[in-house]
Amino acid sequence: MEYLSTRDKTLRKSAAQAITMGLSRDGGLFTPVNFPGLGKLAIEALCGMSYQRRAAYIMAKFLENFRPEDLEQFANNAYGPEKFDDPAVAPLRKVDGNTWCLELWHGPTSAFKDMALQMLPQLLSASLRMTGEKKTACILVATSGDTGKAAMEGFADVDQTKILVFYPENGVSEIQKLQMVTQEGSNVGVCAVKGNFDDAQNGVKRIFSDEEMRETLAGRGYFLSSANSINWGRILPQVVYYISAYCDLLNSKEIKLGEPVNYCVPTGNFGNILACYYAKRMGLPVGKLICASNCNDVLTDFIHTGVYDRNRPFHTTMSPSMDILISSNLERLLFDLSGRDDELVREYMSQLAETGRYEINPNMKKWMQEIFYGGFCSEEETAATIGKYYKDGYLIDTHTAVAAKVLDDYRRESGDNRPAVFVSTASPYKFCDSVLSSIGQVPVENSVDRIAQMVDITGVAAPVRLAALKGKEPRFGDVTEREKMEEKVLEFLQ
Ligand SMILES: *Cc1c(COP(=O)(O)O)cnc(C)c1O
Repeated sequence: MEYLSTRDKTLRKSAAQAITMGLSRDGGLFTPVNFPGLGKLAIEALCGMSYQRRAAYIMAKFLENFRPEDLEQFANNAYGPEKFDDPAVAPLRKVDGNTWCLELWHGPTSAFKDMALQMLPQLLSASLRMTGEKKTACILVATSGDTGKAAMEGFADVDQTKILVFYPENGVSEIQKLQMVTQEGSNVGVCAVKGNFDDAQNGVKRIFSDEEMRETLAGRGYFLSSANSINWGRILPQVVYYISAYCDLLNSKEIKLGEPVNYCVPTGNFGNILACYYAKRMGLPVGKLICASNCNDVLTDFIHTGVYDRNRPFHTTMSPSMDILISSNLERLLFDLSGRDDELVREYMSQLAETGRYEINPNMKKWMQEIFYGGFCSEEETAATIGKYYKDGYLIDTHTAVAAKVLDDYRRESGDNRPAVFVSTASPYKFCDSVLSSIGQVPVENSVDRIAQMVDITGVAAPVRLAALKGKEPRFGDVTEREKMEEKVLEFLQ
């Protein structure tokens, strides 16, 4: 399987090259040349497998030059019992007669980012071997909270890699910050940026496109790579759990093979829902793809009108991992919807860069609306949804609540009551403050003590690693002006 760039479809790279590079030099995103089919026989075979074997089987279809036994080993390392606290890895929880919740936060950092970031470092290491790359990969990450920790946890002490994470000084939750500054490993670094997430992200992009920097680092034996969801190695492991959830529904006789299931995904950078779209392209019987946003509802408007317009106020919400106005992975969808018209994608992306806005053509809009539904959830509705689910005996986090609420809206509006899965992307214990308030409690002063407080009140067990944050000493305390991120990189890569 080869990969082409969304901005130049004549370009061809192997999977190993695409994963090593992260982003194409023309600024485009690597996308598979075609989508391998997933027939009924394959789905039946997958039903009899563990999550780890399902992952190896599905990824092998996109990674032809990787050895199947290696992929199986990677999956065992990524999703084994030392890493995941549920043997099902991505368990499906039945909510009512035709609704399920797919819990993706049983990994080491309690957010769904682990599903991909426990796998990506292994794919990258294998890719370095396959491409003969001798330099050390330095992973630069700008994070709004979850990616940074999950990436460090995945890359800690992985040979031939170093990882440096930038987070907005006041833009992450206390728990998220503590998770990051206490990270162990000899090849990791963490630095706060005076600014918001966009400032951190822009700094990282600036460093990536700095030719002089590239040369200096090459002289020191390093090259820069990305662990953000623009990297194909982040998207691919995410395709797996949509297919796996479908198999689980079949195994429990909740659906018949071939019966479509709707999926509702709480969305920020459009990586997670894109993976579901790719599963559908492979032939998984997916009905409607429901894109759920918080009050940063740029995607809701886009799906309704075909106009993407980031010129609007940025809201800081209680679901911070979805506070985003430019969803990078949308570019991969545009590429597909346009019939792989790279010229048109380039045109839309340059309009976005110059004016913050573009409008897709009527054909693309029509196709998009057949596949997707977009909705959003206000802060009050998020809190009310957490409260309602808690009363019914299920404690969910703020991001998951957004998905649950938008799924309800979709069903009411469309009358489509097909079996549906909404995706749970974080443990409620990552966002104790908002979750406690939403269930009518007053959070205690100290953020780490809120974990024990929530256990006392709800009786729901907290993830072991989050509970263990209490009393942990920070290893990192660096703060930088946003203009000086380059210096931090050079310091880190002495
Ligand atoms: C990253 C994240 C999201 C958004 O996922 P995208 O792939 O960026 O759309 C949603 N919820 C949580 C908890 C996250 O960490």
